[in-house]
Amino acid sequence: MSRAGKVYLVGAGPGDPKLITLKGVECLREAEVVVYDRLANPALLEHAPESAERIYCGKLPDNHTLQQEAINELLAQKALEGKVVVRLKGGDPCVFGRVGEEAEHLAGYGIPFEIVPGVTAGIAAPAYAGIPVTHRDHGSSFAMVTGHLREDKPELAVDKWSALAKGIDTVAFYMGVGNLPLIRTQLIKHGREPQTPVAIIAWGTLPKQAVVTGTLADIEDRLAENSHITNPAIILVGDVVQLRERINWFETTLGEAATPIS
Ligand code: SAH
Repeated sequence: MSRAGKVYLVGAGPGDPKLITLKGVECLREAEVVVYDRLANPALLEHAPESAERIYCGKLPDNHTLQQEAINELLAQKALEGKVVVRLKGGDPCVFGRVGEEAEHLAGYGIPFEIVPGVTAGIAAPAYAGIPVTHRDHGSSFAMVTGHLREDKPELAVDKWSALAKGIDTVAFYMGVGNLPLIRTQLIKHGREPQTPVAIIAWGTLPKQAVVTGTLADIEDRLAENSHITNPAIILVGDVVQLRERINWFETTLGEAATPIS
């Protein structure tokens, strides 16, 4: 009789390979197939048995190595073969991770699955840049927003800009660097103070983490002066960014905090 397969949709954390959960590591140890993303640290594959099949399906922005439907179907087929499958995704699988589509596809087949949350980049990259996303004096609300705005839904965008500009203290934009001019202009246009502090944190939690700070008014110029700031990056807008001046701990202890898995 064939054994039923199962799929674990696992958050790999933001980069530092120690920022995966114990449950995530347990899943990797049991894995017979690991399907992993570009943003999942490849060091994490060391937790999987040597015999496990490793399938890379990372998507570069303009070069879909495997389309999403193909990934959905791959997960399903491997599980239908009776395998334990780990789908390893950068950060948290439920935050801009398309886990909903994958889970729905599996549910359609009646394949058992679990979602294992992870540490999301929008909180962790700021933390490693010395910026807590909330603070009793500087920010009591926080939003995670895609900066990769859908042109087919402009009406949503207008409402959203106004809410983000006026109603939320700290905003983390994922996938937003290419749209920085639009993001900063829209926030100012909808009422956000141009002097609001902004940080762009690239490769957060990794030894190559790089950060540039400025204000909504000048962040575009600051980014242009710092060409080493590349994707993946979080754009963090809000007064909490000021805290970096005092509690920027990671970049001052680099090498200790991001040691490889032993
Ligand atoms: N599920 C992921 C997000 C996937 S969307 C999570 O929860 O973190 C991909 C975006 O995440 C990137 O464009 C970038 O904005 C952000 N990102 C992922 N890893 C990052 C890192 N190490 N540093 C900064 N931003 C990162």
